[in-house]
Formats: sequence, structure tokens, C-alpha cells
Amino acid sequence: MNEKFKNKVAWCKVCDQGWATIVKAKGTNRYWVQCSECDSEWYHPLHAQLNINIKETIDPSSEEIQETGWGEYIITE
Ligand SMILES: [Zn+2]
Repeated sequence: MNEKFKNKVAWCKVCDQGWATIVKAKGTNRYWVQCSECDSEWYHPLHAQLNINIKETIDPSSEEIQETGWGEYIITE
């Protein structure tokens, strides 16, 4: 492993000033990718490499939400 590129998966295409680097939430097993300079975030290294902006959102369909298992959290009254 090349230490120079430790945990780095892409050059940040958002700010063009930092590295998209794999990070982990303290005390959990949750990983994502974050820019060392502009704090842009990606859920997967491929998103950083392809510069897919996860902050660009759409409304998922009810079926999609049920598939995530998050349907139970939707307020019903
Ligand atoms: Zn950046």
C-alpha cells in the first residue's frame, strides 16, 4: 500500500483542492467518503470517483421507502 494515498479514493472534483478520503464514524462501523478540504461527502468511493452529488435529492416513491425499511418512521398522524 502506498502511504501517500492512504485511504484516498479520488481527487475532489467539487473543490479541486483536497482528497476524497474514506472515513469512519467513531464508535460505529459506518463508513463514507469525505473531502479533506471542503467536507463534501459521498456514501461510496465510486460516488466520489464519478463525482455523483448525493446532496442532489429526489422524492423516493412509497415502494422505494418500504424497501429501505424506513416506512415505519413516517408520521401517520
Ligand atoms: Zn473538496
